[in-house]
Amino acid sequence: MEKRVKTKIKSVKKSKSKSKKSKKTKKEPIIELKNLWKTYHLGKVPVHALKSVDLKIYPGDFVIILGSSGSGKSTMMNMIGALDVPTKGKILLNGKDTSKFEESDLAQIRGQKVGFVFQQFNLMPVLSALQNVSMPMMFQDVPEEERLERAEKLLKMVGLEDRMTHRPTELSGGEQQRVAIARALSNDTEVLLADEPTGNLDSKTGKQIMHLISKLHKENGKTIVLVTHDINLVKYAHRTVKLKDGKVVMDNHHKPVKI
Ligand code: ADP
Ligand code: MG
Repeated sequence: MEKRVKTKIKSVKKSKSKSKKSKKTKKEPIIELKNLWKTYHLGKVPVHALKSVDLKIYPGDFVIILGSSGSGKSTMMNMIGALDVPTKGKILLNGKDTSKFEESDLAQIRGQKVGFVFQQFNLMPVLSALQNVSMPMMFQDVPEEERLERAEKLLKMVGLEDRMTHRPTELSGGEQQRVAIARALSNDTEVLLADEPTGNLDSKTGKQIMHLISKLHKENGKTIVLVTHDINLVKYAHRTVKLKDGKVVMDNHHKPVKI
């Protein structure tokens, strides 16, 4: 009898270690949207930008949020990144409900959890590339020497070692987006959120930026959420979530292309 119990325990242990290996399915979501609604009241008619969105994003995901203009992509991204609050529903970051957080806590979370990349780059025009990249670290109280050292390393990583002291106006669009990506990586957050990052770039430069983002996913293990209207970008990700009129209408897992 005793013997049998022991064997049972052994086999449970075995299957546990097995399930560890078959990753992904057992992971906890890093971000979870639950019955999320966002309604804007601008004119007389309320605009329901998001209508009961449910979404789980897991560590190591590379998700494309695909949808035409006005489908609610940016609204959803701002919710994921805790830049805006929902009208109804919950946003869980590592299982914690952010709707219960104060603004100061949300700001800390933003700094520690997510890095943002935008279509218009949004760099500070009076600052050099190096200063732009080191900026978010100031808000996390990183000492100056360490900030500059890290900013330099990141700019090298995105291929801009000889553009460190240039201001945004002295850089091409693709170079500016590289600075923005380096800036988004400065606090070494787990998640990189990119809203139409190739939208202001020609197709060749856009491709280079997508290669860089893919590399960050593959080699640096970043979780990527990338919003676009461009179906050609789907191939870089391994999951595509389609939004239409504020609703998730498709959630597909697929293989990314080899780069
Ligand atoms: P997308 O990024 O997919 O183009 P958005 O999330 O920007 O879509 O917008 C979704 C809908 O919400 C659109 O109809 C848009 O006009 C509306 N909207 C977005 N932001 C605001 C706002 N700040 N005030 C009022 N309406 C807004
Ligand atoms: Mg948008």
